[in-house]
Formats: sequence, C-alpha cells, structure tokens
Amino acid sequence: MTARLDGRVALVTGASRGIGYELAAALAAEGAHVYCVARTVGGLEELDDRIRRTGGSATLVPLDLLDYEGIDRLGAAIFERHRKLDVMVANAGMLGVLSPIGHIEPKTFEKTLATNVTSVWRLIRSLDPLLRASDAGRAIMMSSGAAHSAKAYWSLYAATKAAVEAMTKSWANETAKTNLKVNSVNPGATATKMRAQAMPGEDPKTLPTPQEVASKILPLALPELNVTGGYFDVRENRFLDYHMPG
Ligand code: NDP
Repeated sequence: MTARLDGRVALVTGASRGIGYELAAALAAEGAHVYCVARTVGGLEELDDRIRRTGGSATLVPLDLLDYEGIDRLGAAIFERHRKLDVMVANAGMLGVLSPIGHIEPKTFEKTLATNVTSVWRLIRSLDPLLRASDAGRAIMMSSGAAHSAKAYWSLYAATKAAVEAMTKSWANETAKTNLKVNSVNPGATATKMRAQAMPGEDPKTLPTPQEVASKILPLALPELNVTGGYFDVRENRFLDYHMPG
C-alpha cells in the first residue's frame, strides 16, 4: 500500500455516503488519520469498519454542520490533539430544490444557504489556523458545474456553489504566501443520492462511481500539489483555471 499521507491529519465533511465517504476512505488508505463528519451514524460506522479493515484510522464525528458552535468545538478538539490539520475536505452539501426562482420556499432557501455556504465558512473560520500550522495544508472545496452553467431551476444550488468558489479564491489569495493550498473541485455528475434526487429518471450505471471520482480528487490533498486558487474539473482531470504561487 502506498502511504503518501502517513502522519497526516485530514477532515472530511459529508463522509457518511457518496463522494465524501469514498474520499475519506482514500485518504485513510494513504495513511492519514481522518476525521469523518456527518449526521448519519450508520454511514460513519460503516466507513470506520472499511477504514479499519484496510489498516487505517479514523475519528467519527456525528455532527450537524448547522451546529456552528459544534464546528468550533471540533476545531478546538483537533488543535488539542494534533496542533495542526493537513487536509480539509469541505464536501457536505445539499441540493435544496430545483424550482423556478420565485417559487423557492424561504425555509428551503435559508437551509440550503446555511448548509452549503455558512457552514463552509464556519469550517474555514475554525480550521484555517490549523491548516496554516501544517507544513503542507490542503483544502478541497466541493463546488459543481452548476455554479457556472446558469441552468433554469438550479438557481439556489448554483448560487451556493458560486459562493463556495468565490470564498475559495479569496482564501487562496489571502494565503498565497503560506504553505496552504486551497482549491475548488467540480466532481461532475456522479452516482450518488444527491444526483438521484436531481435526476430521478437517470440510470446511475451510466455515471462515474463516487470511488472513481474520489480517486481523481485525492491528488489535491497531497503535499506535492503546487496549485492554489484553482478550479479542478474531475471529468477533464485537470485544473481549468489556476495560478501557481510565487
Ligand atoms: P450525497 O447527498 O450523497 O452526500 C451528501 C453528504 O453531505 C452526506 O454525507 C450528508 O451526510 C452530508 N451532509 C448534508 N447536510 C449535512 C449537515 N447539515 N451536516 C452534516 N453533514 C451533512 O452527495 P454527493 O456525494 O453527491 O455530494 C458531495 C458533494 O459534491 C456536494 O457538495 C455536492 O454538491 C457536490 N457535487 C455532487 C455532484 C453529483 O453528481 N453527485 C455533482 C457536482 C457536485 P448526512 O446526511 O449523514 O448528514
């Protein structure tokens, strides 16, 4: 087994299923100790079994990311234990609703914004000092092609992902002179629960699996990565727009 992340500490949100689950498993297989965050304990326990079977280690964090103080407590606990964080994957998210923009229920709008944007900012706020304390901090911010495509009925989800990309670029500029590299990712259509909710008639067998997608994202977590402020497109397997630091 290769172990390019031996001795490293990683955190993945939305680790109970889908892309986050597979990314957490992939990071652990590379030797990282992985903090696995989500609400569904069953999914986290299944992930823990898988990681342990392959000789890896994880800490399960059953947390609703709308519990912002809980995010702060998590940051403090990682600081107490490790004094640093090497990899943060802000992956958790929700679709909200596909709807004409004027018909979105205010409650749905607020919850989707809180989940996809505010909780991501709270993660950055809590973990930025720990990522800077690493000699090779890496942040992977999950976006979507929807942020750019302006498709009818996708306004809510698209707006949240555009916000994630804007925060990522600003954060990259703020940290350009540090060891921290922060990039956003478009995983592309992937066979997960979220995709099935968005496209109920689609045959998931026609889509890449979360495992395939996670293996393409993994290099963004490695110390040798030398790109920050970029937008990585999984389908194309490359950064579509980026600047090298320095
Ligand atoms: P899934 O719906 O399969 O998984 C979403 C994950 O987010 C779950 O683990 C869920 O855990 C977690 N989550 C959602 N809300 C919360 C919350 N309040 N607190 C804690 N955890 C939460 O989605 P995908 O794997 O498909 O998506 C992963 C990321 O990739 C998302 O950001 C999505 O927008 C993005 N993406 C996905 C695409 C696709 O085709 N699948 C395409 C483009 C982007 P739990 O419910 O247990 O809390």
